[in-house]
This record gives sequence, structure tokens and C-alpha cells, in this order.
Amino acid sequence: MFHPILNQAHAWVERVLKPGDLAIDATLGNGRDTAILAERVGPHGLVIGFDLQQEALDSARARLTSPGTADRVILVKTGHEGMAGVLAQRAPGRRPRAVMFNLGYLPGGNREFATKADTTLAALAAAFELIAPGGIITVVCYPGHAGGQDEQDAVLVWARSIPSFRATVVLYQFLNAHKAPCLLAITPK
Ligand code: SAH
Repeated sequence: MFHPILNQAHAWVERVLKPGDLAIDATLGNGRDTAILAERVGPHGLVIGFDLQQEALDSARARLTSPGTADRVILVKTGHEGMAGVLAQRAPGRRPRAVMFNLGYLPGGNREFATKADTTLAALAAAFELIAPGGIITVVCYPGHAGGQDEQDAVLVWARSIPSFRATVVLYQFLNAHKAPCLLAITPK
């Protein structure tokens, strides 16, 4: 009944995304979200993925083995805080129906590339301005690593400050698990 956090994020996004949509993976990491988004948006859709590490772009690209999916994905080696500029250039006039964030660092990779509160907040603000009506923003936060708790706290302060007439904001967390990640979902009204 209670899906693990990442599966729950996918389940919510898959309910919202439709064929032909634009979707954003704000933190490519190992590319799992991008592969799912690319399947979901179908042949007329578009996925734009962001990461700072070439390693992440490469592993995301390598996951796009399902027929046609690689053709509908643009991967950019740019911080997600530059989302608005990249969208204006790569998908002018289009608004994303889903924006997914999976914060922290790439497991087994360089922890210096962990996401950081200030750029994460800038990207979230951009995503909230860009998101299509009926769309969804998901954010998975990891409080267990250095800087992770502060980043989660900042994200939750930002999310709580969104006026209830503008969006529904939901927090999903296994409360009695130690330093468990949490999943935030924002759906504009
Ligand atoms: N913590 C997750 C994995 C997160 S991967 C888990 O345990 O499964 C997070 C990815 O975000 C990394 O690949 C990292 O390079 C990327 N990243 C860090 N800062 C970023 C930024 N400003 N813009 C886009 N991607 C960023």
C-alpha cells in the first residue's frame, strides 16, 4: 500500500503526465527518472534532463534503450537553477507537466556534486513558475548526508510558504525510519 519513496514519486508523475507532454528531470543522477519520463511522454513528447556531471549524462543516455526514447530526450550539462533559460531555448513557449528532483549526491559518485540549498531553491522557484496547470513537481530530499538536512529544511520552509490557493503541497515520509528520505509533491491549482 505504501510504495517506497521513489516509486511513489513515479506513481504520482505517471498519473499526471500525458502523451505529448514536456517533462523535466532536474537531477539526472543515474537517469532512472528520465527513462520513465521518456516512456510516459511518448513519441510526441519531450524530456529535458539537467545535471552538472558528465557521468550522469552518460548513464542517463545509456538507459534510453527502449525504442524511440533517446530521440525525445535532451540532456544538458547545466545546473537546474538555469532551467528557465534552457527551456526558453530548447522548448520555447512550452510548459512542463512534470518536474522531478532527486536531491543529494550520486551514490558511488563524487559527493562534491551534491545538490545545494541555494541552487535547489532557485530551481524550485523556476519550476513553480513554469509548471503547466494540472502539472506536478516532485522533490525527494535526503537528510542523512552532510548538508542534506539543511537542504531539506530549506526546501520544506519554501514549500510551506506556498499559499494554499496557489498549490496543493503534500509531504510523504516514513516517519519512524531514521534519517529517512522524504518526498514532497506540489500541484498548482
Ligand atoms: N540521492 C539520490 C541520488 C541523487 S543524484 C539517491 O541516493 O538515489 C543527484 C544528482 O544531482 C547528481 O548526479 C548531481 O550531479 C546532480 N546535481 C547536483 N547539483 C545540481 C544542479 N545544480 N543542477 C543539476 N543537477 C545537479
